[in-house]
Amino acid sequence: MSENRNPQHLNGPMPVLFVGHGSPMNAIEDNRWSREFAALGGEFAQPTAILAVSAHWYVNGTYITGNEQPETIHDFGGFPQALFEVEYPSPGHVSLARQVRGILEQERASLNSDWGIDHGSWSVLRWMFPKADVPVIQLSIDRRQSLKRHFEIGRSLAELRDENVLILASGNIVHNLRDAFSRKRVGDIETPNWARRFDESVKQAVIDHDSARLLSLATETDDGRQAHPTLDHWLPLIYAAGAGLETDGTRFTSEGFDWGSISMRNVIFQ
Ligand code: ZN
Repeated sequence: MSENRNPQHLNGPMPVLFVGHGSPMNAIEDNRWSREFAALGGEFAQPTAILAVSAHWYVNGTYITGNEQPETIHDFGGFPQALFEVEYPSPGHVSLARQVRGILEQERASLNSDWGIDHGSWSVLRWMFPKADVPVIQLSIDRRQSLKRHFEIGRSLAELRDENVLILASGNIVHNLRDAFSRKRVGDIETPNWARRFDESVKQAVIDHDSARLLSLATETDDGRQAHPTLDHWLPLIYAAGAGLETDGTRFTSEGFDWGSISMRNVIFQ
C-alpha cells in the first residue's frame, strides 16, 4: 500500500485525522465505510508512530498506554465471534508514551499497561495500516475535564506532528445510539433533520477554525444535546481540532450517515 501514499506533507507537519468509526462491524465487513478507511491509508506517508485518542477509553484520569506490545481490546458485546477474533498486533512505543506523559505533566498523566488498542482505533487502523507495522499508543480521555481543557490537551500534542507522529482521533460527530438502534430496528434509514443540521454546523465550525463555537456546539444547542447524550464520541474531535493549527486546511474525505443518524464524517487537518 505504501506506493499509494501521498507524501505531500513531508515538508510540513504530519496531518491530524479525526475519523468517525461507527459500528464495530466496519472492522470486518467490506462496506462503504471500511473501503473509505482503507483509502485513508493513502492520505499519509508512513508515520513514525500513531497516537490514538479513542471514544472508547473514556475514564477518570489521563493515561497513556505504555506497553511494549499492546493488547487488542474487544470492548463490545453482542457481536459475531469473528469480531472477537480480530487482532491488531502493532507494537507500542514506550519512549513516545513517556514523552507524551512529559507533555501532559499538568494532567498528572501516567503510563498504563491495563489498556491496549480498543476498537475505536483498530476498527479503522486495520484498514488504514493493514500490516500493523506502525507503533501505536493510546491516550485516554479524562471525563472529568472541561471541554476547553480537552482542546488545550489536543493543542499541546500538536508538537508531535513535527516528529512524524500521526494523531488519530476516533469518535463520531453525531452519535446517539438510542436513536440509531431504534431506526435500525424498524429499518428507517432516513437521516433526521437535527442530525444533518448538527453535522453541517460542525463542518462549518471546523472549516472556520471557530474553536469557541466548536466547544459550545455539543452542549449548548438542542441539536448538539440530541447528537451527544454523552460526550465520549464527541471529545475525540475536540482533541483533533486542538492539534489542528490555524494554518491547516481542512478536508473531509468521508461524509454521510450510517444507521440513519450516526455521522461517519471524517476530518483531515493539514
Ligand atoms: Zn464507538
